Amino acid sequence: MTDKLAAKDKQYLWHPFTQMSQWDEEDPLIIEQAEGVYLIDTQGRRYIDGVSSLWCNVHGHRRPEIDRAVRKQLDRMAHSTLLGLAGVPSIRLAERLVNLAPEPLTRVFYSDSGSTAVEIALKMAFQYWQQRSEPKPEKKKFLTWTSAYHGDTIGSVSLGGMDLFHQIYKPLLFETVQVPQPFCYRCPYDLQRESCETKCADDAIETIHRHADELAAVVIEPIVYGASGIVTAPEGYLSAVRNACTKSNVLLIADEVAVGFGRTGTMFACEQEGVAPDLLCLAKGLTGGYLPLAATLATEQIYGAFLGESRRKFFHGHTYTGNALACAAALANLEIFEEQRVLANLKPMISALSEGLARFGDLLHVGEIRQRGMIAGLELVKDRDGKKPYDPARGIGHNVVLRARSKGVVIRPLGDVIVLMPPLSITFDEMKMLLNAVYDAIREETDGA
Ligand SMILES: *Cc1c(COP(=O)(O)O)cnc(C)c1O
Repeated sequence: MTDKLAAKDKQYLWHPFTQMSQWDEEDPLIIEQAEGVYLIDTQGRRYIDGVSSLWCNVHGHRRPEIDRAVRKQLDRMAHSTLLGLAGVPSIRLAERLVNLAPEPLTRVFYSDSGSTAVEIALKMAFQYWQQRSEPKPEKKKFLTWTSAYHGDTIGSVSLGGMDLFHQIYKPLLFETVQVPQPFCYRCPYDLQRESCETKCADDAIETIHRHADELAAVVIEPIVYGASGIVTAPEGYLSAVRNACTKSNVLLIADEVAVGFGRTGTMFACEQEGVAPDLLCLAKGLTGGYLPLAATLATEQIYGAFLGESRRKFFHGHTYTGNALACAAALANLEIFEEQRVLANLKPMISALSEGLARFGDLLHVGEIRQRGMIAGLELVKDRDGKKPYDPARGIGHNVVLRARSKGVVIRPLGDVIVLMPPLSITFDEMKMLLNAVYDAIREETDGA
């Protein structure tokens, strides 16, 4: 059966972010079931889901509480529109999200992916400045970071800065003001770490002030820049950016699509530095990894600028906005956080991850180990002292991932960075298995113990 399915996959599918000619040469791993932190393939083999099904699973697969909530909702209704109608689970979830989110965020606008959550935030920010009681139509630009990633729709791609993903679409994109990521392992200014941290923050603040008159908003991945290789921002960087936005009268959009829902150890990453954004984008972990749902949260001040005449409304809405099954899953996901005190109980697991990662320092080709909460990235380099990267054609990240798979672990690379982002529900034993498999995979692939 597996061979037949594999042949049909190759015949009919087009996989995301995948060179299909390479895909056609390899045997696809076909997942049929999942349970807890495990994915189970068509031949019954079990793999630890080391990247939480691309960063979205939270409390494990087939979580009885979420299964039950979705089934229960299914007995009532799968979906009805939020255009002209309201729906029970979307109301309950919105209240819950507002209660969880930093205080000034009071309004929830639903969509269905991280890309749309960001797209919505940027349209809201743009329209807000046009429609304020004291309009500032010249404020229509966005400040973003080099190597940022905010999704794959054209607006979100415009905010992105990853040349590999985004270069080809350049003629379709709007311009942004860019500042370098505070990536002090490879300092954009060629400075030592401490000077790098200061210089990066100063430069970001200065750029925000300088462009204040034309900036609608600053769009940031708080604490961890995910897709660019798990780049962790220095402490204080996010709050410095928040302060600069406040002083320059620029909105702050926090894209917590990857880092929200406990990933950094707090419910939202912004909490790590006591920061409240003006717009907050949520997706991936919102439903615990069950169903596609996203939310853009806004302050009452932004919301207020859309009230009044008909033409002032927000012209945006997707067919499945506020889908009832997805909202029911999200509610159950959030109830687990509360009832099982997930975040309080997570601290020892975050320490276990740190302790387990320390051993990777023995490996000659691990250049840097980056971690925030339950997110880790291991940057593989050809030469550790010179921080010299591997030739991309070597496919080192991809090969490590394939080796890890043969040891019962599913992970994904970001170029030469090996990403570990297991479900928050992982046990100590499972964490050990995950780390051991990845350690061995790197050691074997790089011959460097
Ligand atoms: C994944 C991601 C997105 C895009 O979310 P999709 O649901 O894949 O559209 C946006 N921003 C960040 C930070 C992400 O990690």
